[in-house]
Amino acid sequence: MAAAGANSQLNPLENAKRQFDEAAAKLGLAEGAKEMLKKPRRTTIQHLPVVMDDGSIQVFTGYRCQHSIVRGPAKGGIRFHQDVTIEEVEALASWMTWKCAVADIPFGGGKGGIVVDPRKLSKGELERLTRRYAADLSDIFGPDSDVPAPDVNTGEREMAWFVDTYSMHSRRTEYAVVTGKPLEVGGSAGRREATGRGVMICIEQMCKHLNIPLKGARVAVQGFGNVGGVSADLLVRDCGAMIVAASDVSGAIHNPDGLDVPALLKYVAEKKGVAGFPGSQPLTTSILEYDCDILVPAALENQITAENAANIKAKIIGEGANGPTTPDADKILEAKGCWVIPDILCNSGGVTVSYFEWVQNRMGFYWPEHEVNDRLREKLELAFADVVKVAVREKVSMRVAAYMVAIQRVWRVYELRGMYA
Ligand code: NAD
Repeated sequence: MAAAGANSQLNPLENAKRQFDEAAAKLGLAEGAKEMLKKPRRTTIQHLPVVMDDGSIQVFTGYRCQHSIVRGPAKGGIRFHQDVTIEEVEALASWMTWKCAVADIPFGGGKGGIVVDPRKLSKGELERLTRRYAADLSDIFGPDSDVPAPDVNTGEREMAWFVDTYSMHSRRTEYAVVTGKPLEVGGSAGRREATGRGVMICIEQMCKHLNIPLKGARVAVQGFGNVGGVSADLLVRDCGAMIVAASDVSGAIHNPDGLDVPALLKYVAEKKGVAGFPGSQPLTTSILEYDCDILVPAALENQITAENAANIKAKIIGEGANGPTTPDADKILEAKGCWVIPDILCNSGGVTVSYFEWVQNRMGFYWPEHEVNDRLREKLELAFADVVKVAVREKVSMRVAAYMVAIQRVWRVYELRGMYA
């Protein structure tokens, strides 16, 4: 969750706008076009009354932002967190527009959230809240209009409740209304690993481009959850890299000779954290500044800032998390010759397989995991090549290049469709 506060460097909406503005300026877009591309199409505020277990009524606030639907249905997760704000939801929705465009999947961008600390609710209360949100906003959601997915503190369980509620209202089973569902409820093979797999593919492509061997490269991973854990596992298993440091909320550990990642994954599943892993030493300094070749921030926003960017040693940063680097930090990293694979490209494997899930739901025909993985690789290699080409041609960072590719794709559709008045 972004700790925006008074510090504009950490405000997600400000950061999203700054990233957009830099790329849009390079493209020479007119003011009106920029305004149109930047502004969310629609943000809905929905108050959600829920009967709590003790019989009292509590009213929660929910949001759904459709930033863009010009390339296809709005796509983006639903976040349950006590700090959710309308600005954060709108910033995250705009990132989804650019992410779907850079990955070249036929979706727009959306995001939703409910202001709630889910740890304070029982399972029954959470189910009633999720169903109320799905039902109250069912005129907005739909396979052809707006397709949510999990985000912070929501997962397969909430998506199954969502599908059920939406299906009850539409009087037929409608799996394609959300993605990130359990396999038995219309989920896709390979979805759980998709984001980490995409991070691995992007890092592999970056190394190829820079002519840096990935075999034996030293990697530090901040956030050893779904994205960080899978990225680490695949970087070791498929690419021969070495994970030398890892962290999560329990602490940070390191081993300059390489951590035993399969054993660490097992350990984390049992002990709920990396701290105390046998064969490692505790890391007392920041993992972001660890002496390594590749850094994978896979935890939260705003981790690499103007305060620590100069101390980063990695040559490549693969952004598994959304928004882990502030625009000020970007400038420092660029000047140091550090290559940042931007979030909208690097973690787009998740939404790409979400798209495959939606396609499979609509076909009623499900692909084996190897087919999902092959198609993901094909999509990401193409997206990566498009971004590198622009970065080299325009002499800009990978982030600016990714935004340029994305903005151009969205704007082109506007130009072709024309302005309805
Ligand atoms: P997760 O909850 O599985 O893992 C997050 C990890 O970060 C946990 O290990 C947690 O302990 C750790 N963490 C939290 N605060 C930390 C801190 N201050 N220092 C170090 N570690 C910390 O979540 P995830 O699904 O892996 O998502 C991680 C990031 O990737 C988020 O920014 C998310 O928005 C982004 N992302 C996820 C997906 C996806 O498909 N899961 C897709 C795109 C982007």
